[in-house]
Amino acid sequence: MQPKSINQTGPQTFTVVWKDAVVMEYRLADVQKSCPCAHCRKVGAKVQEEVNVRSIETVGRYGLRFTFVTGCDRGVYTYSLLRRIGRQLKSS
Ligand SMILES: [Zn+2]
Repeated sequence: MQPKSINQTGPQTFTVVWKDAVVMEYRLADVQKSCPCAHCRKVGAKVQEEVNVRSIETVGRYGLRFTFVTGCDRGVYTYSLLRRIGRQLKSS
């Protein structure tokens, strides 16, 4: 499943509209907590309560990279990981 659009909705939140019309909301702190890089998987990601992001870029066809202002930004978040950690919003 791939995103149709990614929209930052606040300083610490963004939503992803998936191609199947599912809309999911994310808090940047929760995203960073799930950092999939080798280091964070081993020792756990250190995350501040308020996490800001400089940019969100797509990586190939399979994931997103977040450039966080603080903390680890080495992880590539695959779409399947993002589908697992998002909070699904009610479809309108
Ligand atoms: Zn990491």
